[in-house]
Amino acid sequence: MAGIRLLSVEEARARMLAQARPLPTQDVPVGVEALDLVLAQTVTATRDQPPFPAAAMDGYAVAAGGLTDSPQTLKVIGESAAGRGFGGAVGESEAVRIFTGAPVPSGAAWVVPQENARRDADRVEIAPRDQSSAYIRAQGVDFRSGQILLSAGSRLDPWRIGLAAAAGLGLVSVHRRPRVAVLSTGEELAAAGGPVGPDEIYDSGSPALSALITKWGAVAIRLAPAGDKADDIAHALRDVAADLVVTIGGASVGDHDLVKPAMGLLGLELKVESVAVRPGKPTWFGLLGDGRLVLGLPGNPASALVCAELFLKPLLDAMQGVEAPEPRLIHARTTQALPANGGREHWMRASLSYGPDGALLATPLKDQDSSLLTVYSAADALLRRSVNASGAAPGDVVQALPLQRA
Ligand code: AMP
Ligand code: MG
Repeated sequence: MAGIRLLSVEEARARMLAQARPLPTQDVPVGVEALDLVLAQTVTATRDQPPFPAAAMDGYAVAAGGLTDSPQTLKVIGESAAGRGFGGAVGESEAVRIFTGAPVPSGAAWVVPQENARRDADRVEIAPRDQSSAYIRAQGVDFRSGQILLSAGSRLDPWRIGLAAAAGLGLVSVHRRPRVAVLSTGEELAAAGGPVGPDEIYDSGSPALSALITKWGAVAIRLAPAGDKADDIAHALRDVAADLVVTIGGASVGDHDLVKPAMGLLGLELKVESVAVRPGKPTWFGLLGDGRLVLGLPGNPASALVCAELFLKPLLDAMQGVEAPEPRLIHARTTQALPANGGREHWMRASLSYGPDGALLATPLKDQDSSLLTVYSAADALLRRSVNASGAAPGDVVQALPLQRA
């Protein structure tokens, strides 16, 4: 359509990200409360881990002299348990009973695993030295006090939460979750699970988008579908407290595509009018008068879901303070010949598999029509065809965006 400014995917994303600021921070406990939130601080170890040389096996801690090439009988002078170490020192011809994770007493150079020892009252006979290991974890072998373990901008997954806890932190500073209002528009839409007329279809866009938003660390505020009247659409969004508004449908320039005019009633300042992407060309973005960001997605399910990966996820990442919010692509070999591409970047729904040599393979699914939810729900990845890409032969390397399937 004449007059519409079509931006490349990169340019459109850059314009969107330029408006996204990391949200304010808050302190949360290092636990499930922090799951999937993004650090606003570095995590620095408050102590060495382990804080002392620790036994790596159950057995007997012995001095260097107790270790010879022939069996030795030593006197057991005490015990070091995890959480309650042995206060004294181990001398030559002595041993201390020790358990995994317990502090190795001073004077000890070796832990003899219990399967290489035979205990008899206060005596223990130990086998000749096992050269493979001293079975002692050095103090600070995991990390040292003062060591930087995690940087600001990293998302807290279960493993990083474990690391922050081990490092001695009780609370961490994170960016608060973005609040995202989700509104489907269209006279034909019936709320999922509710009554539906013969000319209507169920709204699949807002359930899917709300779920993605939740998966991407934000809070979804799912609104009831609105019709196609500008006043109704503006009314539905006017008082919703949100950082970002996502609309679905009504994005292009047909007689019933009234979302942009509706947003005009809320003071829309348009930053992206349309994107050279397939599917999802009518995608748009702007700012409302009150500062809320607004992303307009087309209504066709695949268009909305592809553009959510390309634009919504990076926006949510940026609002959460993620270091590099751009999508991370992988490489795979296409199993099918691909035609030359035109002037719109094409993101094809594809399945991933491994070839006999272990190479990752991508197979575009047969029907790429943007209305097909069955195809999308069978896809593992979006295969990228860049603008004006020449044709590809089976076996050629292509870029793909993996979908985070559960
Ligand atoms: P639109 O972007 O409004 O022109 O809609 C394009 C196509 O997507 C039409 O066939 C709509 O019925 C369909 N559609 C729009 N919104 C949704 C939605 N939320 N859920 C499912 N289909 C939708
Ligand atoms: Mg519509």
